[in-house]
Amino acid sequence: MYNKADEILSQTKELNCRISDLVLQNECKIKESSEEEVRKQVRAILQVMRDAAHSGIETETMSVSGLIGGNAVKADNYRKTKKTVCGDVVNRAIARALSTSEVNASMGRIVAMPTAGASGIVPAAVITAAETINASDDDIIDALFTASGVGQLIKKNATISGAEGGCQAECGAGAAMAAAAIVELYGGTPEMAFDAAAIAIKSVLGLVCDPVAGLVEVPCSKRNATGVVNAMACADMALAGIKSAIPFDEVVDAMYKIGKALPAALRETSMGGLATTPTGEEVRCRLACHR
Ligand code: SF4
Repeated sequence: MYNKADEILSQTKELNCRISDLVLQNECKIKESSEEEVRKQVRAILQVMRDAAHSGIETETMSVSGLIGGNAVKADNYRKTKKTVCGDVVNRAIARALSTSEVNASMGRIVAMPTAGASGIVPAAVITAAETINASDDDIIDALFTASGVGQLIKKNATISGAEGGCQAECGAGAAMAAAAIVELYGGTPEMAFDAAAIAIKSVLGLVCDPVAGLVEVPCSKRNATGVVNAMACADMALAGIKSAIPFDEVVDAMYKIGKALPAALRETSMGGLATTPTGEEVRCRLACHR
């Protein structure tokens, strides 16, 4: 297990390998399994990701509370029928991120990578980016190993919990993982992957966790959609040679300190932020009456 991105970077240099190679080797060691077995497990995980990223587009999926749902269908119809602002690739990814978060809120099956609340970002970003270059499933699986390596570092050195660090720790981690995965998928170096991940977290530092009525629905679902855009933009910046002025390890430390400095009201307690706006309170009261 690696403790810091710096360690991974020196290992990848020494062994002339990718981040995903190190993560896969480590996984084999931990699980006492062969590469083939580990890949088989991740292939099954990828299938669950694909199903969740698509089912909310194919059928309107409502959350159990009825608070969210149907936005994945809207986003996909829009990109198919209109001239979009961000283009087809980004809008396809947005629809998929919304789909997974709607499936999650309907108690469907998702992959909590890094968490259930932020589960829409990595699949939508990686699957969509892979389509553009006709990447194989094996390439996507490698990219997921890279995402997992980045997530492990964030969990080890900070947190991936909204209750502990705010939404920067959940959707921020998801975007960082996805950004690094896309960079590797597109042939970028390990340094570029960590630059992309660092920029993705920097872009949402301080983002609070304020779910309306205590449900992982509002604003969570749409933060998955914007998390995908964050990941894709940061991957493109890194692949263009743009570096993060602050290294990944230091960004993660800063994110943790900021999370610790957030008041409890802004860390998943629903006692502040959007949850206590007049509309947030009205939704909470309305749902409470129906329980
Ligand atoms: S607002 Fe909170 S519950 Fe919702 S996705 Fe962000 S961290 Fe998770």
